[in-house]
Amino acid sequence: MPKIAQFSFLTSLITVMFLAGVAGVTSYAISNIEQATRQQIRTSLNTVLQTTVTTYQVWIQYRKRDAAELALIPDVIDATEGLLSADENRKSLALTRLREYISPKLRKENDMGFFIISPDRLNAGSMRDNNLGSLNLIHMQRPGYLNRAFNGETLFIPTLFSDVPLTDKAEDEKHPSLSIFVASPIRSNDEVIAVLALRINLNSLFTQVSGLARLGSTGETYAFDERGMMITESRFEHQLRQNNLINPDSKSILNIRITDPGGNLLEGYMPAIPPRQQPLTVMAASATRGLSGTDIEGYRDYRGVPVFGAWLWDHDLGFGITTEIDVEEGLASFYKTRQTVLGVLALIMIMTLLLLAYILRSQQAKKRYLQEAKDTLEQLVQQRTAELNATRKQLETANHELEVQATTDSLTQLANRRSFDSHLQSEWLKCSRENKALAILLIDIDHFKEYNDHYGHLQGDECLRHVAQALQNAYVIRRPGDLIARYGGEEFAIILSDPTPEYVSQTAEQLRAHVSQLNITHPASAVAEKILTISIGHATCHHLQQISPENLFDQADKALYQAKSRGRNQCCAANTPDTRTRHTG
Ligand code: GH3
Ligand code: MG
Ligand code: MG
Repeated sequence: MPKIAQFSFLTSLITVMFLAGVAGVTSYAISNIEQATRQQIRTSLNTVLQTTVTTYQVWIQYRKRDAAELALIPDVIDATEGLLSADENRKSLALTRLREYISPKLRKENDMGFFIISPDRLNAGSMRDNNLGSLNLIHMQRPGYLNRAFNGETLFIPTLFSDVPLTDKAEDEKHPSLSIFVASPIRSNDEVIAVLALRINLNSLFTQVSGLARLGSTGETYAFDERGMMITESRFEHQLRQNNLINPDSKSILNIRITDPGGNLLEGYMPAIPPRQQPLTVMAASATRGLSGTDIEGYRDYRGVPVFGAWLWDHDLGFGITTEIDVEEGLASFYKTRQTVLGVLALIMIMTLLLLAYILRSQQAKKRYLQEAKDTLEQLVQQRTAELNATRKQLETANHELEVQATTDSLTQLANRRSFDSHLQSEWLKCSRENKALAILLIDIDHFKEYNDHYGHLQGDECLRHVAQALQNAYVIRRPGDLIARYGGEEFAIILSDPTPEYVSQTAEQLRAHVSQLNITHPASAVAEKILTISIGHATCHHLQQISPENLFDQADKALYQAKSRGRNQCCAANTPDTRTRHTG
């Protein structure tokens, strides 16, 4: 894998692992916070519940004591005995006495009235005349409680429907009034002869306590009887009326059975089964079995709203109490915290991914930049190499041209004198080593000054080119060591490698004849034919070790001088006057 790709892969992997780690830790923290919140709710619910129960216990204890004390007073016992007697006069007198005696006590506690209940459960005495002699309403609605009183127990009797309207208000006439009682047995000679029941003001502490013990805006504390009927006011009476859970004119007390409708009624859930057949809520079912409990997982209350709750059944008080709060409100702070934490998590994730994208992009850019730089460098190298090659080629050409120029005669294109000299040196050494012969031929155009004088210098040049061409075209240069050169002016020189003297003489003659055959008119020439001719002096040496190249050249030069002096247009061999030839045409 290329380095950059490897880096990108590693960076991405580390980032994903980091994000997974953060998500894991966050989810763990959120779950912890949720658990802590639920535990906190449990504590709060239990605190409220305990406070409420204690308040009820203290207050009811106090009210029970009131009833018990009244029932112990001899005048009350005496009057009760009068009430229970068959004598109408005594009865009436006893009732008047009892009312006079009890009235100030009732006013003191703001109580609504009293009953003296006979063993046959009839109202023997009361504040009002119209319920005298009728079956007692406690017996009709909560007979068990009354039986306990007749069995000698002083007790609280939870809410029941009143037998009479307790106020004059129009509202109360529409629906039945409600009553709560404390009852205490009246004894005579250790025999329970009747029960004294004080009708406690419903607006007393009983409903106030549940009204006060409310957590937040959805928290509710209420009491209920053994049938699961609510015996304190619902906080949500308004909602209940709106959703037709209770009659628009009714109160929630004793009109609400604490059942689970099966869905949230406030959200428009329509229960499939009628309220009477609905099961009690988780809380009510547990409490009416005499159990206490706390639920922080959530269950539906009588409105069908998911709630957390704590409850208990108080055997002494004879009713159950619960405190509940909507799950939504209970977990509101948790939801808020969770939202914040998730928001922060999302932010971290976005930032991290943006950072990753930035790093990967800059890596890509770096890669691209490096590639571009490499490409540019390669292009530059190629360009420079091409330029260098071109320059080298130009240099080679220039060098070659220079070399050619340095070794070539520009007029005749033959080798020049410099070239001749160096070739003579090297060939001399070579032939000397190999014990071979070497010959030098010196050629001079006859009366060329006159030719120039006659035809002008330019034509003289032209003539020189023709002669050079003719010498070359004679094909006497055949071996690698052979060379023909323009030695200077109208003079040419030839080196022949390893020739015989005869061959040299023949070659000289052949050259002379070749030039003559050009038939270049030369009127100013002293030669009889009036054509351009050449004279050649040549020297051949077989023992090169014995002389120097300059010696051999001198010999050829002298031979040339001889050829000139003998009349020109002829060849002359050095020191060999006999080899002289004369062309006669
Ligand atoms: P000889 O037969 O004794 O050699 O007589 P010559 O006139 O040829 O000899 P000389 O040495 O008196 O003259 C050589 C002449 O060659 C002189 C010069 O005008 C001519 N010459 C030398 N170089 C050039 C050249 O490059 N171009 C032309 N046109 N003439 C040249
Ligand atoms: Mg000359
Ligand atoms: Mg000459």
